[in-house]
Formats: sequence, C-alpha cells, structure tokens
Amino acid sequence: MTAVATEQTIRAVVQEVLAQIGKTNGVATNNGHDKGDWGVFDSVDDAVAAANAAYEQLKRTSLEDRDKAVQIVKDMCFDRAEEWGRKELEETEIGRLDHKIEKLQIIRLVPGREFMKCDAVSGDHGLTVTEYAPFGVLGAITPVTHSLPTLACNFVNMVAAGNTLVVNPHPSGARIACEGVRAFNKAIYEAIGINNLVTIIGKPTIESADEIFKHRGVKVLVVTGGPAVARAALSSNKRAIVAGPGNPPVVVDVCANLEKAAKSIIAGAAYDNNLLCIGEKEVFAVESIFDELLDHVGRNGGYRLNASQIDALTKAAFSPPKEPGGHWMLNRDLVGKDPAVLAKQIGLNVPADTQILFGETDESNPFVPEEQMMPFVPFVRSRSIDHAIEQALEHEHGFKHTSIIHTRNVNNMTKMGRIMETTLFIKNGPCGAGLGLGGEGYLSFSIATPTGEGVTNPLTFTRQRRCTLVDDLRII
Ligand code: NAD
Repeated sequence: MTAVATEQTIRAVVQEVLAQIGKTNGVATNNGHDKGDWGVFDSVDDAVAAANAAYEQLKRTSLEDRDKAVQIVKDMCFDRAEEWGRKELEETEIGRLDHKIEKLQIIRLVPGREFMKCDAVSGDHGLTVTEYAPFGVLGAITPVTHSLPTLACNFVNMVAAGNTLVVNPHPSGARIACEGVRAFNKAIYEAIGINNLVTIIGKPTIESADEIFKHRGVKVLVVTGGPAVARAALSSNKRAIVAGPGNPPVVVDVCANLEKAAKSIIAGAAYDNNLLCIGEKEVFAVESIFDELLDHVGRNGGYRLNASQIDALTKAAFSPPKEPGGHWMLNRDLVGKDPAVLAKQIGLNVPADTQILFGETDESNPFVPEEQMMPFVPFVRSRSIDHAIEQALEHEHGFKHTSIIHTRNVNNMTKMGRIMETTLFIKNGPCGAGLGLGGEGYLSFSIATPTGEGVTNPLTFTRQRRCTLVDDLRII
C-alpha cells in the first residue's frame, strides 16, 4: 500500500513538474498551465513569467529545434503574408497593401543562427573560447508602422540567439501582433513542444510598457519607435537597445544620374506610403540640376504640386508649433495615407497609379524638418553640394539614422558620409538598399541608432562569455 501511494505521489509530482516545463508523457501541453492564450496575456507579470519559463526550456533544447522555431516564424510570415498584410492594413489604416504583404514575405531574409559565432584564442597558456550567450527574456516595444513585421524580425534575431521575448505592441497594431503570436506559438509548440517563446500584452498601454521597463524578469529592452519611447527607454535603469526616429535627407549632386536618382527617391518614399524610418523624407538638390531632377520625378510616378497646393496640403498636414521654435504638430490622420487621399484634402484628383506627391518648398516648410511619414516629398533648391550637405545635416537633427546621396563624385560621397555620421549612408540607390534590399548587407526592421548597435542581428542580443582552459588544448 505504502509503496503504491508513494509511486502515485511521485508520478503526480513528476507530471506536475513536467507540465510546468511544458511536457507530459513526452507530448508538450503547457497551454492551460499558464494564464495566457498561446502567448497573449493580460498582465505583464504573467507574460514575463511565461517567457522566462520558455527561456528555461529553450536552454535545454537542441539547436536544431531552436532553428525549427525560427524557420516556422519565417515560413508562416511568407505563407500568410497576404492575409496578415491585409489585416495589418485594416487595423492600422496606414500604409499600402502591396508593401504590407512584402514586409512579411521578406522576414525570410532576416538572419538567424547562421549569424552566431564563437571566438577562440590559442597560445602558450592553452585555449580560451568566447561564446555569445543569450540574456534571457528581452522586452520589445514595437511600432504601428510595421507591427507584425517588427515583432517577427525581433523574434528571428532574438530566439536564434537563445532568448525569449515579451512584447508591448503599439495599441493600434496590437490585434495583428497578437494573431501572429498565437499562430507562431501554436505551430512551434506542435513542432518542438515549447509554448511562449514570444509573449505579448493583449491590451497594451504606456503603463504596461513602463511595467516591462521596470520588471526584474526582463533583462534588456529593445525599443523600436519614435522620440517619446526612445527617451523613456533610455531613462529606464535597464540596458536599452533603441531603434529610434529618423528624418532621412537626400542630397542630389550636379553629376548624379538624375533619372536613376528620381526613380530611387520615388521607390523609397512611396514604400508603404513613406512609413519607413529609413524612407526618403526631404530632398536637397543643387540648383543647376534642380528642374531637370523634378521633371524626372514627374515622369516616373510623382505628381507635382504647385506652390498654392503645397501651402494647402501643409495646412492640412500640420498645425503651427505651440511655442516659437517648437515642433509643428502632425495631423496623425494623414500619416501613411495614399497620395490620392492627401490630394483629396486639397480638392485634387490624381491618377490612381500616383506613387508620391512632390514639389518645391523652402527649408521652413514643416515637411522638411518634421518626420512626416506621408507620401509628399519636399524638394529644396541648394546653392551648391556643400550647401545641400549642410541643409541635410541640419534637418537630420543629429538622429544619426539614415542619409542618402546621388552623385558620381567620390569626394562628395566621402564628404557627406563624414559630416552626417549616420548609421545608414546610401549612395545612388533607394533607402531599402541600405537594408540589403537591392544593396549588399542583411535585413532588419530595428536599426539601433542612438545606442549604436546598428542594423540589429542575432549577435546584438547576446552577452559575451569567456571560457578558459589553462595550459591545455593548444594542439599545434
Ligand atoms: P511611436 O513612438 O508612437 O510608438 C512606438 C511604440 O512605443 C509603440 O508601441 C507605442 O505604444 C510605444 N510608446 C510610445 N510612447 C511611449 C512612452 N512614453 N512610453 C512607453 N511606450 C511608448 O512610433 P510609431 O508611430 O509606432 O512608429 C514610428 C516611429 O518609429 C518613427 O519615429 C520611426 O522613425 C520610428 N521607427 C524606427 C525604426 C528603427 O529601426 N530605427 C523602425 C521603425 C520605426
């Protein structure tokens, strides 16, 4: 009797322990043993606890299974890009369907565990290996401009490096982010028996973001967003990797290939209706080629506004600063809208295939200094290349995010590169080339600017650990 009772007790205890870590009878079933709905949680505490439990499981899992989880997210984003892209557009009401779909399809290009490495030093005193280890649970804040793509990209990088993540999405893009999280967790759970590699706050608020910023169970913050959230993360007492705002200027030199420059500016600025943080936001073109450049823009999908139309659009898009020298207030209702919608604001009908609106402004027009995220591009006349670079520097505001030049003059490229000191500096192509889309390099949706990590990748989310063997294992 005693022996049977003991066996039953032990069995019950073992089952409970296995259930806690996500497995019973060799089949994973930890859903129901946490308070979430496949990773979607009401409370930050529960979301962090579940992501921590998943981290403990991931530590014990083979690298092969870790790769499977990452591949599942890439494949699902590709296979369901049309459905999820449409849903993201319906929910956020900003951007373009074709690009919402493409941004999910290209998650395939985000680097995974192939980026991981270890370093070794071998010498008289033996062998020392440096390994790149995970932190644990990372707290991610994602923007409305690319809600599910940023979450999926962060997942690929962070989980490839062995971390798990808890996400506070932008409230206006939370529904699609939660749908993605549920789908990823279910599929991963079926494949490798781990739930909650990514957890998310179902009804996110500034307060829930703040709780994540302060939570002891969150090791590092990874914030992708505008100035307010960048400041909030930087003033928290945790390490923060901040992918902050930009206002990318484009300089066009006298010796540029003007047709190519025009096509590049349109391709970048029209992308998702200019929601990209790297997107071409204002152009400084040298006087002698200014008119010809604008003609090329008009011939390649741009619709040119005259001075009074620009004035009317400016009044619709901004209200004046509250105090002298302050920021113009952006009309959020026009952010990421189609060119036809912007044109309607000023009583204009433009052809359906219009990619951007554009026109000549001076530097004081708020479309130049403000990160407007609309498909209207202001073109400013510059006296010389030096003047254009000076204007670009001023209106990039020291974000050190992205700048672009079109020129065949290597000296001018070098000069601008040195002066701007931006994280991405693109020459003779659209902004996307700086993220491996038509240029060399790899893709990420989080470009860490003020904190200096650059285009994030799995190694960004690691801590170095050194392992030293004294006097042995140097085999040469
Ligand atoms: P946003 O700053 O309004 O919101 C970003 C996220 O921060 C959201 O989840 C939001 O809920 C949260 N948030 C906002 N203020 C906060 C605060 N005080 N405390 C805590 N959380 C807060 O930005 P958005 O409109 O969603 O995205 C566009 C901005 O993000 C642009 O400025 C763009 O340049 C930037 N961005 C940068 C990158 C990059 O890689 N550097 C990528 C995408 C977007």
